[in-house]
Amino acid sequence: MAVDIEQLKASVTGEVDARRQQLKELSLKIHSNPELGFNEVKASDWLTHYLEENGFTVERGICELPTAFRASYGQGKPVIAIMAEYDALPGLGHACGHNLISTCAVGAGVASKPAVDRSGGSILVIGTPAEELYGGKAIMAKRKAFDNLDAAMMMHPAVYDSATTQALACQALEVEFFGKPAHAAGEPEVGINALEAMIQSFNAINSLRQHIKDKARIHGIITDGGEAANIVPAHSAGSFLVRAEDDAYLEELKQKVIGCFTGAATATGARLEYKWADICYAAMRNNLILAQLFIQNMESLGRKIKLSEPGEGFGSTDMGNVSQLVPSIHAMVAIAPKGVAPHSPQFAAAAASDAGIRGLTDAAKALAMTVVDLISNPEVVTKIQDEFRK
Ligand SMILES: [Zn+2]
Ligand SMILES: [Zn+2]
Repeated sequence: MAVDIEQLKASVTGEVDARRQQLKELSLKIHSNPELGFNEVKASDWLTHYLEENGFTVERGICELPTAFRASYGQGKPVIAIMAEYDALPGLGHACGHNLISTCAVGAGVASKPAVDRSGGSILVIGTPAEELYGGKAIMAKRKAFDNLDAAMMMHPAVYDSATTQALACQALEVEFFGKPAHAAGEPEVGINALEAMIQSFNAINSLRQHIKDKARIHGIITDGGEAANIVPAHSAGSFLVRAEDDAYLEELKQKVIGCFTGAATATGARLEYKWADICYAAMRNNLILAQLFIQNMESLGRKIKLSEPGEGFGSTDMGNVSQLVPSIHAMVAIAPKGVAPHSPQFAAAAASDAGIRGLTDAAKALAMTVVDLISNPEVVTKIQDEFRK
């Protein structure tokens, strides 16, 4: 008997409606208990318990990361994963709305059960810690957490609805200059000024900025600029992020940025030390067939949604690393009006608002309906993978 896709979709959206109150409470509980990357003990505990209570088999602490998890329901192919993020930001709490991401993932996973029961295949909810600061998914990708997936999806709260995300490749850089202290007035000629080396580096980077490709970004802060105004600074330090539209240009740009620091070291006589972060956030590869399915499903809920537009949100996300391995989407779902900036107190408030909960439940429904599309149609999975291999 042919699978009635529309009937299955009605049943998975009904599952989300039936759990609306539970999902809201879970989301608000995580929101009011913000935990930083790799310390998301309560959130991962609450999420995994909810999944277990709803029939999922849970493995905790996968990839040697105590707050990571993998929850699965069903067996065999296709294997469709929904990603959960649940880390907060220092000082700002859930100002990126990851409480909504994780609860949406759990809601979509549980709601997808009728599709798996009807058509087979597996639905996974993968708990991926530390998106903001440490690229948890990049680490998990290296440790093979995403091998054997047929598709991976997630939602991220935003101020617009979009089925795709433009996210840049990004790598962090720590820089130090070592100079020589001296009395800044009495004997300035014997000092080597490590702060000047840092300032020259910023100026060189600002000059470089005129001659880099569109969408590339270089930005940083000074974390040590000396001890006192009357001591020639013997040490300076800074943290930087270098971003580019693709991994190849990121490598090229990284060399140019290092040139700015070595030039400043030569000019001042200060000694340079630097270290690139072990983890690089990869650029996002959006699977357009998957994105179109998500658009149709969001539209069936009465939401206006499209593909991302130039200039819309140029952050970086570790979902990029997943998207290099598996056909993926990282959909943006509006929870606040345009003008509310992510990583602000206003966005944190939106992540606990009624509009936030509506974004969560709509996205959970659309993700679960997309699971129906994938699990009920093996040809669709093949098409998605063909696009990915191109
Ligand atoms: Zn964020
Ligand atoms: Zn985020």
